[in-house]
Amino acid sequence: MKILNELYSGKAKSVFATDDQDRLVLHFRDDATAFDGEKKASLARKGTVNNKFNAFIMTKLERAGIPTHFEELLSDNQAVVKRLEMIPVECVVRNIAAGSICRRLGVKEGMDLDPPTFEFFLKNDALHDPMINDYHIRAFGWATEREVASMKELTFKVNEVLKKLFLDAGILLVDYKLEFGRFHGKVVLGDEFTPDGCRLWDAKTREKLDKDRFRQDLGNVIEAYEEVARRLGVELS
Ligand code: C5P
Repeated sequence: MKILNELYSGKAKSVFATDDQDRLVLHFRDDATAFDGEKKASLARKGTVNNKFNAFIMTKLERAGIPTHFEELLSDNQAVVKRLEMIPVECVVRNIAAGSICRRLGVKEGMDLDPPTFEFFLKNDALHDPMINDYHIRAFGWATEREVASMKELTFKVNEVLKKLFLDAGILLVDYKLEFGRFHGKVVLGDEFTPDGCRLWDAKTREKLDKDRFRQDLGNVIEAYEEVARRLGVELS
């Protein structure tokens, strides 16, 4: 497979076309951003850690019967994925209150959410990713009713698989964001699952081990990602 031109450069990943119509190459860069790109940094080893972390999680999800775009690792910071037609919404499940739900609803960080909550956000930086619901998605034609149902079902299935995977490693899966796309008509998990797009707390101390370390200037950002990877048994070298 030959890597061709860059199709898109996001905040932390670049996407390349390949000579296979159905395949893309993701390049995980060392860039970190927060607050709609207002805060930026380059963090050594981040691209490699996130690429390998994502490969590990996507493989676990695939084995649990969740269709993902992940195909194989290509290098330390590149992976081959299926070329999806992306659905422009973000699916967020929360097991514990943190982040924007605390600001929006005035609830205390750390509150257990039973049942876990589900939220859709529109993927649109200029509009600051506003919260939307099923009706917006269907009315504006971003996805069909069937696709909305698939995204919800798959996002909750991911919760069952990953809550246990992390808890077995002494980590609480607080919340996470997923993005889906279509591959030959089927809804498939795309984008990435890394500590950039979820919240992970040490189960005993509740220490933050995710991107909140970057957002809140807590230091040792990549060291925390590496600690999570070590506990899960992700091969980083
Ligand atoms: O900011 P908020 O609390 O709504 O984020 C919920 C979860 O979704 C967090 O784990 C956050 O890292 C993730 N997220 C993301 N990308 C966004 C918005 C949220 O990865 N654009």
